[in-house]
Amino acid sequence: AKELGRNLWHLHAPSMNQEASERLLLENHLRRALERDEILVYYQPKIELQSGRVVGMEALVRWHHSTWGWVSPAKFIPIAEDTGLIAAIGEWVLGTACRDTKRWQDLGLPPVRVAVNLSAHQVHQPNLVERVEEILQETGLPPRFLELELTESILMQNTERVIDTLHRLRRMGITIAIDDFGTGYSSLSYLQRFPISTLKIDQSFVSSISRDGDRLEGVIAKAVLALAQNLDLEAVAEGVETLDQQAFLRDAGCDFAQGFLYSRPLPAEEFEKLLTERGHT
Ligand code: C2E
Ligand code: CA
Ligand code: CA
Ligand code: CA
Repeated sequence: AKELGRNLWHLHAPSMNQEASERLLLENHLRRALERDEILVYYQPKIELQSGRVVGMEALVRWHHSTWGWVSPAKFIPIAEDTGLIAAIGEWVLGTACRDTKRWQDLGLPPVRVAVNLSAHQVHQPNLVERVEEILQETGLPPRFLELELTESILMQNTERVIDTLHRLRRMGITIAIDDFGTGYSSLSYLQRFPISTLKIDQSFVSSISRDGDRLEGVIAKAVLALAQNLDLEAVAEGVETLDQQAFLRDAGCDFAQGFLYSRPLPAEEFEKLLTERGHT
């Protein structure tokens, strides 16, 4: 960050505020990040709580800048969204995730489903379904091994079109997950109108599960689990960090979890090792 600040001082008029300048600098570098091979995909395993085995993974984008080092997705994803750069980055992430997943299957590793985050920009792109179809064809990954994660706020914008897009993806065999579930403002009746397979319980609800599993604190996680059960959806708890959280979730009927308790997001080679050792067969 210091490095950033120093560069900026020379590049921009002093009237421009620091935050806007940093954004512009990041944007300029982000434009070249793909061609410079600075964008990577990491994988965080999804664990089946009953068996402890790896049954899938979430693809998470990473940016390693040549001089700044790691730039957090929280910093560059919003810029990529606003500038439309997310279209190219998101496609690259999707292609890489499908290619890696197919390669692991071809190596004879337990077949697992990969979840890829979609941004609002991508979901509203008119040719999204065609692009996803092409990527699956190019990589040879059967569509049932791809899950796409969308947030509630994406579902709530331009709803009719989004419903249509999601049905087309679902008919191909792709599954849809709602990310950060419970943090948006979607009305529950909407859930039935979308072809959803999975609810991802936001990590804020998981982190509020206290050491002694206080009933009130875990109440939202429990409510989401009950909702998932009643609607016959898969539920995945995100951000599980402690054994107490795991025990609480398991007792509440949660089948799947992700979090630092099991593993941080890993580079492809390390995830491959984990899948070899702890994959579901
Ligand atoms: P998300 O989709 O909700 O991803 C989960 C985030 O929680 C990841 O942060 C992950 O590293 C982190 N996490 C996982 N387990 C734990 C845990 O036990 N404790 C805590 N405190 N955190 C945990 P990350 O990788 O920094 O990504 C942040 C956000 O950036 C993601 O949130 C997602 O919204 C966005 N993002 C990441 N990759 C992509 C991508 O390829 N495309 C798009 N459009 N957005 C992405
Ligand atoms: Ca996600
Ligand atoms: Ca999430
Ligand atoms: Ca999130």
